[in-house]
Amino acid sequence: MVRGLRRPARRESGLRVATLSVLAVLAATGVACRRAEPAGSATPILVSVGVGPDGRVEPPWRDAIAIWHRGGTLDSVLAAARPLSAVERAWADSVRARAEAWSASTDSLRLPFEGIAAPQRVVVVVGNVGGQDAFTPNDSTVAFDVERLSSLYGAPGEGENPARIDRFFAHEFTHLLHRAWRREHPVRLETALDRALWDCLVEGLGNYRSLSSRWVGPGGSLTPHALTVLDRLAPVFVERLAALAHADSAEEARLTADLSMGAFDRKWGALPTALWLAAEAEGDERRLRRWVAAGPRGILELARTHLPDSLAAGLPTG
Ligand SMILES: [Zn+2]
Repeated sequence: MVRGLRRPARRESGLRVATLSVLAVLAATGVACRRAEPAGSATPILVSVGVGPDGRVEPPWRDAIAIWHRGGTLDSVLAAARPLSAVERAWADSVRARAEAWSASTDSLRLPFEGIAAPQRVVVVVGNVGGQDAFTPNDSTVAFDVERLSSLYGAPGEGENPARIDRFFAHEFTHLLHRAWRREHPVRLETALDRALWDCLVEGLGNYRSLSSRWVGPGGSLTPHALTVLDRLAPVFVERLAALAHADSAEEARLTADLSMGAFDRKWGALPTALWLAAEAEGDERRLRRWVAAGPRGILELARTHLPDSLAAGLPTG
């Protein structure tokens, strides 16, 4: 998820471009309109617009947003369904236009996850009610709510939006890879601290893919802006984790509310972790494998590696 609610985005690194497979499916017609045979290990991407011409929500979008509306509120969301507006249609078109490049990028995005198979194909579903700007409703789907994208960022061609939507895909595809990793490496998240560390790891790697050139320079060096924000967030990171080591459920909710949600430069867990991972990678994302393999407790070691001693001393042990 990029911005907004919890659970229910890439630097333009040199991507190995391969011939790839793309299925672009328009819900308006229900017909697959483009397909190429896969080559290499790129993950095929199918784009599905989950809003019919009459505004009816199609099953792929209804299934995607169901994670946000448990307990009977989905019907009221669906009652507000409407056709895509002009700017929403432009976002849907931009998603469709990027599917081939996103498929080609999946080889590169897999680098931190050694030995982990990506989903055999990924469905990118687009809708305009009831979602978040970008999210992963299941193990093989990336979802974009184009109403949220329009209201948060404007039209798809404005400013840095073309690069932003690429980063959003990279962020969410990374979450799919982490889901696949966890299936092969079950982790027990029985304490508030372990759950927070897991969120730092998953959202840290996701937000690593969200970092623009404002944060990371050539070769993975952190920009002055990144270092300034890191100086501000590092004490918060330590203070929150220390408190989470003995937090009850109410305290856990309060302490983790902005771990990876809200304003990007205030995500006390996701952003420091993302920046430390960028410093670790130094432009070679195979260097991130050790931190994925280390699981949630590896976040404490990562933090100790990068925090000044005076702050590192305040981290919980474990
Ligand atoms: Zn995320």
